[in-house]
Amino acid sequence: MEHRRVGSLNVSVVGIGCNNFGWRTDAAGTAAVVHAALDTGINFFDTADVYGGGQSEEFLGKALTGRRNDVIIATKFGMKMSEGKQGARPEYVRAALDASLRRLQVATIDLYQIHFPDPNTPIADTMQALNDAVKAGKVREIGCSNFSAEQMRAARATPGPRYFASVQNDYSLLERAADAEVLPECARTGVAFLPYFPLANGLLTGKYRKGKTFPEGSRGKDAFGPEVFTAENIERVEALIAFAESRGHALLELAFSWLAARPEVSSAIAGAKTAAQVRANSRAAWWKLTAADLGEVDRILS
Ligand code: NAP
Repeated sequence: MEHRRVGSLNVSVVGIGCNNFGWRTDAAGTAAVVHAALDTGINFFDTADVYGGGQSEEFLGKALTGRRNDVIIATKFGMKMSEGKQGARPEYVRAALDASLRRLQVATIDLYQIHFPDPNTPIADTMQALNDAVKAGKVREIGCSNFSAEQMRAARATPGPRYFASVQNDYSLLERAADAEVLPECARTGVAFLPYFPLANGLLTGKYRKGKTFPEGSRGKDAFGPEVFTAENIERVEALIAFAESRGHALLELAFSWLAARPEVSSAIAGAKTAAQVRANSRAAWWKLTAADLGEVDRILS
């Protein structure tokens, strides 16, 4: 498994997104996914306080008992947990951090991320609180999520000394908005990019085919993320499958390897519901796409 940098952290290029935990996956299912990930060399787990109403962090912490030193744990704060418990005010950052440390049962969070920009709090105040958390040894690196390049620059202009090691935004073969400004900002400043929804909710795994009923138990079937499962995207997926197969690969490999082809991308934090999915994903980032391959993908998607 290849590793890449997020600031001082060394993360596997295939990571695990943990938003299924505590929602679609119970504690035993979480442990199965986490242990399969560790067995395949995946060391990076991305969760958030809000996932599963706190249970994602709890289940992850429990599943990682005895393995803390083998993994890099990222979590996030700021989305509404309950009335008044949201945002990025310094006193809330402190409370949310302590709550995440408790749920995860760890002394330090490796990467602590603002889930969304908080328009009601000056970014300098939030950055100060995050810097204080680093100084106190509760956090190793800080990051942001759903930030524009302009919002990243505003954070970078604060006194620091720490700035974001990473930005986590929606990005995949089917969602390219970050190409315009955020990825160039990452390239310019050395901030790691963590693509979320790297598999477009599973649409890029190859299990959704034109004219076929969506598989039982899949997100496409239970209509999560219906905006992704459009007829137009199914057509694009068919074209991507044909391209990947013409090069001797599967769509799943194209989805991961295309992300890994971007040097700004540190880890594709894909969600997984089963150990088998984790094992397949862990083997999918090896295809070294050539410039001609990448150009062909752009042509297919244009
Ligand atoms: P995703 O990674 O695009 O898709 C994951 C889903 O695809 C799985 O739950 C599974 O769903 C299916 N799948 C995965 N591997 C598969 C395989 N090998 N074969 C067949 N199906 C497979 O979506 P996500 O998990 O929602 O997002 C990834 C992570 O990004 C999250 O866990 C979270 O950490 C992060 N995220 C962050 C934000 C943010 O605002 N920062 C927002 C969203 C997500 P089924 O089995 O149910 O079909």
